Formats: sequence, C-alpha cells, structure tokens
Amino acid sequence: METLKIAVIPGDGIGPEVIAEGIKALEKAAQLDGRVQFEFTHFPWGCEYYLEHGRMMDEDGIDRLKDFDAIYLGAVGYPGVPDHISLWDLLLRIRKSFDQYVNIRPIQLLNGAPCPLKNSSKEKIDMLFIRENSEGEYSGAGDWLFKGKPEEVVLQTGVFSRKGTERIIRYAFETAKEAGKTVTSISKANALNYSMVFWDEVFEEVSKEYPEIQTYSYLVDAAAMHMITDPERFEVVVTSNLFGDILTDVGAALAGGMGLAAGANINPEREYPSMFEPVHGSAPDIAGKGVANPLATVWSASQMFDFFGYNDLGEKLLKAIEILLEENKVLTPDLGGSASTSEVGDRISEILNDLF
Ligand code: ATP
Ligand code: MG
Repeated sequence: METLKIAVIPGDGIGPEVIAEGIKALEKAAQLDGRVQFEFTHFPWGCEYYLEHGRMMDEDGIDRLKDFDAIYLGAVGYPGVPDHISLWDLLLRIRKSFDQYVNIRPIQLLNGAPCPLKNSSKEKIDMLFIRENSEGEYSGAGDWLFKGKPEEVVLQTGVFSRKGTERIIRYAFETAKEAGKTVTSISKANALNYSMVFWDEVFEEVSKEYPEIQTYSYLVDAAAMHMITDPERFEVVVTSNLFGDILTDVGAALAGGMGLAAGANINPEREYPSMFEPVHGSAPDIAGKGVANPLATVWSASQMFDFFGYNDLGEKLLKAIEILLEENKVLTPDLGGSASTSEVGDRISEILNDLF
C-alpha cells in the first residue's frame, strides 16, 4: 500500500474547521479503497503564530515542508495581521519556494449547486482554469519614487519570462490533450503592449506543437463578459496571474460560491510538494461558529487524489459532493441549509460508504 505524507497547515479562522472535514474525507476514501493511506503532520502556522513569534511560520519552515508529498492548507489571514504579511510570509513563500507555478481551479457547476445565471447554458459550466502562479503581474517588482511629494510615481512591473510563459501554456495544452478539450488563452495585447503581445506570441508558438487541439484567444474584458453570457464556450483556460485571480472569482460565483471553490498549486515536475487549498479565506465573520462550508476543502482533496494518480478516487469524492448537493438536506447556511461543518463532513463519509 502506498503511504502519502501530507503536511497540514490548518491556519486561521475557518481554516481548521474545514481542514478537519477534508482530512475526514481523504481518510475515508483511502480506507474504503485500500490502495493508499495518509500520514498527516500538523503545523500550527498562521496569524496566531505570527502574533506570538513575529513570523507566520518557523524560520526553517520551508526546509521542514520540502520532503512531504503534498501540503494541505486551510486558510490564513486574521484581523490584526496585515493581509500582505499573511499572504507574502506564508502562502506566497510556499508557492514560490516550491515553484508551484500552476494554479488549477475547476469551475464546474455540479448538479444541485446554486448558480446565479438564469439561461440554459448554465447546464454546461465546466471549465478548468490554469492560472500562472509564479510571476506576471504578481512578481512583486516595482518602485515607489518621490514618496509623498507632488511628483510621486509608483511602478508595479509585470514580469513575463519566456520560461515562465511557455511552461504554463504548455501545461494547459498537455491537460487539454489528455482530456480531449479545447484551450482558450486570455490576455490583453491591445492595451498591455509588451507583456500581453509576448504572451499571445508564445501561445501561438506552443499551439503549433498541438495541431490537433482547437484553440481560442480572448481579451480579458471580453472573456469576463462571455463567462456570464455563454460560459459553455470555455474548456481549458490558460491565463496570467492577475487575470486568473479575478476571473476565477467570477467562476466561483458561477459555480456555487466560495464555499465550493477549490484550488491546487502544482509543481508539475514534482521536485517539490504541491499544495491543495480551498480558494476562500479565513472568513473571520463566521469563524468558530461551526457553520463554514467544508465542500471546497473536500473538493481540493479530490484534486489531491487526481494529482497522485488516483483519479477514480478524485472522481468519487467529487461525486459525493454532487450527491450531497442534490439531496439538498445536509447543507451549511451559505447554501441555504442549517447543517454544521462537521455534519456536512459526516454526510460525505456516509455517501462515500455507498460509493465503494
Ligand atoms: P481573504 O482575506 O483571504 O479574501 P476572507 O476572510 O475575506 O479572506 P473570503 O474567502 O474572501 O474570506 O470570503 C468572503 C466571505 O465569504 C467570508 O467572510 C464568508 O462570509 C464567506 N465565506 C467564505 N468561505 C466560506 C465557506 N467555506 N463557508 C461559508 N462561507 C464562506
Ligand atoms: Mg476577502
């Protein structure tokens, strides 16, 4: 039997509440299946840790994480700790140190999930966003000149390397090839006259290596509109760090809300651990009440199974989520129900029992 070593960072707010249910689902599926087992190691990092130690994670934290097979993260961020600290000192540090340059976010409307669209095409919302996760608009490069003076100027530089741009676009094509899907590139070459002209050129070049794959290319503003008016035109979508950040939140709203939005930060070469997490934050407004929706975290567990090659288990977890939504009985308040976080997790386990 394979043993997967998982570093768990429950984090802040609702993070620990939803992570507990994600672990429940992983263990249940693994136990019912019998091919794989998990060994979880918890790390108490996050904002509470920061308030005590002046840092979000141990100094040698990256070193301690590097030999795990994967990282399972709840959420970080809390009132009293500036967002840019919690983000840069933990989340972005892990993403960058482990070269997790692919951010995968499924935007799939499951049966029973709420959707704000009224038209018929909502039946076919099934996109896979592949967002560049290591550079681009979020490179952190820039300058702040003449601070506080009348001639004050701020520069925020987008960094698009050939290596970084090629590898994310190639990853999208490889994913589409395996799944028999189309690839859509989203950029903005008419206004961003260096970075996005380059992006489009690289997309064009890489697409020539995959003549059998149908491609589309949209400006980001048009893409935002099409996601609402006819989302079925998107299958595998590849885009930059900033555009991906924004459009996947639009996608989350289309496919059931933040409580159902899952994400994976992948290092495809497997030199370093990849990280699986719900897209939502620590949600201090509902933390400690036991009402957070754990389904996004369970969905990211499904992505973890896929990543390790147990696609059938990943599918079963996703099916369990869909059955729970269709039953429309055991749901948290964000989905109109009155169940608690752990009741939803327990129901997922019961459904899994029936699926094996
Ligand atoms: P961040 O600062 O990282 O964006 P946040 O704490 O502001 O995090 P968001 O993820 O942005 O939280 O979520 C916004 C709101 O959506 C939360 O305040 C909460 O009310 C709701 N929400 C988010 N995730 C969940 C969830 N899993 N279950 C129920 N409600 C959620
Ligand atoms: Mg927020």
